[in-house]
Amino acid sequence: MEIEIATIGGYEEVGRQMTAVRAGDDIVIFDMGLNLSKVLIHDNIRTEGMHSLDLIDMGAIPDDRIMSDLEGDVQAIVPTHGHLDHIGAISKLAHRYDAPIIASPFTLELVKGELEEEGKFDADNELIAMDPGETTSIGDSGVLDLEFVNVTHSIVDAINPVLHTPEGAVVYGLDKRMDHTPVIGDPIDMERFREIGREGEGVLAYIEDCTNANKKGRTPSESVAREHLRDVLYSMEDYDGGIVATTFSSHIARVKSLIEFARDIGRQPILLGRSMETYSGTAKQIGIDFPSDVEMVGYRQSIEQTFERIMNEGKENFLPVVTGHQGEPRATLTRMGRGETPYELEDGDKVVFSARVIPEPTNEGQRYQAEKLLRMQGARIYDDIHVSGHLCQEGHYEMLDELQPEHVIPAHQNMSGFSGYVDLASNQGYKLGRDLHVTSNGNIIDLV
Ligand SMILES: [Zn+2]
Repeated sequence: MEIEIATIGGYEEVGRQMTAVRAGDDIVIFDMGLNLSKVLIHDNIRTEGMHSLDLIDMGAIPDDRIMSDLEGDVQAIVPTHGHLDHIGAISKLAHRYDAPIIASPFTLELVKGELEEEGKFDADNELIAMDPGETTSIGDSGVLDLEFVNVTHSIVDAINPVLHTPEGAVVYGLDKRMDHTPVIGDPIDMERFREIGREGEGVLAYIEDCTNANKKGRTPSESVAREHLRDVLYSMEDYDGGIVATTFSSHIARVKSLIEFARDIGRQPILLGRSMETYSGTAKQIGIDFPSDVEMVGYRQSIEQTFERIMNEGKENFLPVVTGHQGEPRATLTRMGRGETPYELEDGDKVVFSARVIPEPTNEGQRYQAEKLLRMQGARIYDDIHVSGHLCQEGHYEMLDELQPEHVIPAHQNMSGFSGYVDLASNQGYKLGRDLHVTSNGNIIDLV
């Protein structure tokens, strides 16, 4: 059976991920993501009403025109998890394919939300939920199976899809870290990866998340970030002024920890901001292990009213969890820094960033400015209470040991980001151009 891999997006950047695997006459697409930084750099662009080709020209979504070079029918679109760099282009591209979208339940709910907000295209792809650990048959050949292996990442319900073919398995390894003690959900299923590496024809190809491939050592578990956060918030137990926290709204496990520790120190947590409401609301709705009784406020006007209530009843009784960890100009925390909300920061009030700045000049500039504004109001900053969602080098070595893939394809980075991975894969006997395929967007790798 002929096997080809089209590297469509996310092979020159972190963002707009999209990869297609053709096995015989059948094609499976993994991820359809958005490169948000290409959108945010323009003021006030609203993507909802924009045409795909304009977004492709901006570099915001994958250029999927290369799909016409693959001879076969798309049988499934499979997003790995709910981050926008993996699902954010589905509303712009999925309608071109007569294929269902198959995803884990939380991811699928977020995809649904993306499709509902879309203003230009009307995708009517069937939406199919599949749990981590399950397998389904793909196409009409009867020899292709799609399996979801449970992995751990900075969002719940992340999976690594595996396409089982007669030539071996194609493992799509984006995005994960090896977490054996996650705060929500099951540990990463390393046992299954090990089996896949040893059963049948083994692993034909492994596409790897190289986000942290230049970082030594091991990515800590989410439970480490949780203990760090506990230590910081418990130290504030006797403080009788304002405490405000921010984190990635999609990071359900972290939001859960914030809610629990706020209560432990005698404060009522309130989630504030549109995206906080979207992600946490979705988690609650589909029954993820998440506090069901927490107050969430999404709309601007209701946020203002909530802040007024907090000021009336006393800041010391509350812990608002807000958007704005990257200093986004329109996010709630940045507006608090500018003094645009009824919440009055005073000397000594605490602002907890349970996030790291995404190392990109726009973010760094905006975050610097937001922090400066908060400091000018007297706020004290607690920084970097976070662990990455991506494997570092030791995790990459371990994956190669378990899967023993015939070919490896680094992804989710640019050329300089790939360099660390090329080094370590070379140490393990892979050779550039032979079985280690460093590539760029818009290429097709012919494997069989
Ligand atoms: Zn991700």
